[in-house]
Amino acid sequence: MSKAGEQPGEGRYTCVTCGHVVFLKSDGDALAVCPHCGSGRYAP
Ligand SMILES: [Zn+2]
Repeated sequence: MSKAGEQPGEGRYTCVTCGHVVFLKSDGDALAVCPHCGSGRYAP
């Protein structure tokens, strides 16, 4: 589980609330709050 504001590393993250997928392109990028539902929780 990753949360908004964390820098979990490059990869693909899925919002656990609505299924929206975001991609982080570098290890220094931080997850943002989901633009669809406002949730800040992502899997994995
Ligand atoms: Zn969402």
